[in-house]
Amino acid sequence: MPTDVVTMDKIVSLCKRRGFVFPSSEIYGGLGSSYDYGHYGVLLKNNVKNQWWKAMLQERDDVVALDSAIIQHPRTWEASGHLAGFTDPLVDCRTCKLRFRADKLEDAQCGRKPSKHPGETPDCDLTEARDFNLMFETTVGPVKEEGSTVYLRPETAQGIFLNFKNYMQFARKKPPFGIAQIGKSFRNEITTGNFIFRTREFEQMELEFFVPPGDAGSWHQHWLAERMKWWVALGLRPDHLQLRAHDADELSHYSSATSDVEYLFPIGWSELEGIANRGDFDLTQHANFSGQKLEYVDTATGERYVPHVIEPAAGVDRAMLAFLVDAYDEDQIEGEQRTVLRLHPLLAPVKVAVLPLVRKDGQPELAAEVYRELRDHVQAEYDEGGAIGRRYRRQDEIGTPWAVTIDHQSLEDRTVTLRDRDSLAQVRVAIGELVDVIRGRLGEPWRSPKLDS
Ligand code: ATP
Repeated sequence: MPTDVVTMDKIVSLCKRRGFVFPSSEIYGGLGSSYDYGHYGVLLKNNVKNQWWKAMLQERDDVVALDSAIIQHPRTWEASGHLAGFTDPLVDCRTCKLRFRADKLEDAQCGRKPSKHPGETPDCDLTEARDFNLMFETTVGPVKEEGSTVYLRPETAQGIFLNFKNYMQFARKKPPFGIAQIGKSFRNEITTGNFIFRTREFEQMELEFFVPPGDAGSWHQHWLAERMKWWVALGLRPDHLQLRAHDADELSHYSSATSDVEYLFPIGWSELEGIANRGDFDLTQHANFSGQKLEYVDTATGERYVPHVIEPAAGVDRAMLAFLVDAYDEDQIEGEQRTVLRLHPLLAPVKVAVLPLVRKDGQPELAAEVYRELRDHVQAEYDEGGAIGRRYRRQDEIGTPWAVTIDHQSLEDRTVTLRDRDSLAQVRVAIGELVDVIRGRLGEPWRSPKLDS
């Protein structure tokens, strides 16, 4: 494997420089690990989510969509086990006043001596570990009184289980079928960090796939394979991806089998997505707590059962970080260093940039005409300011796969040059064919050029 030039610091600085991600509330000094997504960040994140929806909804006929509330009935979290069990062990250091996750001390730095882990120096004075619930608590209504406490959801999954009965009645679905949801989740993580890898507010893409109990094992295998295919098809290098099955002592209370899709980030192999066999835990718990029957009844045979659930659960922000890390590259063009995001064209925030070579001789007018035509079909950008080389570099840094240049010949024969971000090949294309050519290229299978470097 050739050495990768990417580091987390380079990603953070590119994201800020080019307007993908900013530290939140910066004018007030920032707020720990909160981030705001800028223009290109929004476009990239939307593309990730759209590709997930496409794989879940458009390309299948056994999954339906949901967008449930962030604040749900507090009994939800009693039934799900989050109120009692969604905790991390916390320790305080009486010397440096920092807090750490007791089970992750080897990943943390001592506040006084960052080369050491907490507890490793004679000055460290750690408290006993105590459990800290990760759910954000708030109140509904104007008065904080008994019964008004609610929680910001720590996962999108439970909203799906609460709606299972609605889908049985109204969506006319029967197992095997799934309900998919994308939305914000909140966890009061003790230690955040590594940019958008672990934050307290993040987005999840979760599917709960309901199956007959006897088929749970084979559907779990199905989703492991499907989800790995999705990550690879969107360009993540296969040698940077692995499936890791949880050991028995790692499994959550509800799970009989879980495998994580892990990506080789600059911080090492880390979870991108968890794919769990949740059995009938959730539906049974919510049936017990709500007094409602949450089961499938076959009206023809009278057969009834509580479906088992397979759950692929991925983080949107973590996915975006993996795509950025995987795409980041540096090379030399004509003796100058170039930074380039070799993103899969389907994920690239902007698909095509339209650039007049000079700002005169009718070129800006023709370029604007080409731009207006292209933007009806794909996310396009027009840029006429500065030297052409600088404009190419800017598009390379935001990962734009193609640039269309209008030059003096364009005014004579209505052709333009189409430049490829990765191969740097330039071909002449008739303006009338540009939309089809770009659409054709967007539809082609794609493989990271970093695999061949
Ligand atoms: P971790 O072990 O990293 O804390 P988890 O196993 O608790 O993650 P899940 O509950 O399985 O995570 O959530 C599914 C996905 O949601 C994770 O694979 C990850 O991509 C994303 N995710 C979870 N917690 C966070 C967070 N604090 N910040 C960003 N993304 C997160």
